[in-house]
Amino acid sequence: MTSNTDPLSEHFDLSELTVSQAAARAGLRNVPLPGYRENLRRLACALEQIRLLLGGHPIVITSGYRSADVNRLIGGAPQSAHLLGLAADFICPGYGTPQQICQALLDSPIGFDQLIYEGSWVHFAIPDSRLEDPRRDVLTAIFAPGQNTRYAKGILA
Ligand SMILES: [Zn+2]
Repeated sequence: MTSNTDPLSEHFDLSELTVSQAAARAGLRNVPLPGYRENLRRLACALEQIRLLLGGHPIVITSGYRSADVNRLIGGAPQSAHLLGLAADFICPGYGTPQQICQALLDSPIGFDQLIYEGSWVHFAIPDSRLEDPRRDVLTAIFAPGQNTRYAKGILA
């Protein structure tokens, strides 16, 4: 058995931050450009802070880095922070619902660029390393059949 582990931090491996079921199904490789590894390492460090905040329960990443092909495949935003290795979508069932996780993050001192309550998951993005102050932009995604996803300010029930 071969091992593909490539730890970015204590609890997060590169394989977790590049996982994509859609990419696997489409036969696309989702390998980050070398320049984005430092972003992914910073993202993993932020996820460690979140893990602590959420009582040490395991965080399940559903989407981290996305290559341009993978992002197109799943219909991601063209300027998505996922393309730069700066964002992760996750759940933490051991802690609570995505809404409860968003509220905990909002109430915490953890710095982030953008937090989106996406209904069944949380989108969390760290700032570009060139920016000094995290923006702490907080949004709720509003899905409607046949329409583009809209975003409202704050965490909405
Ligand atoms: Zn996302």
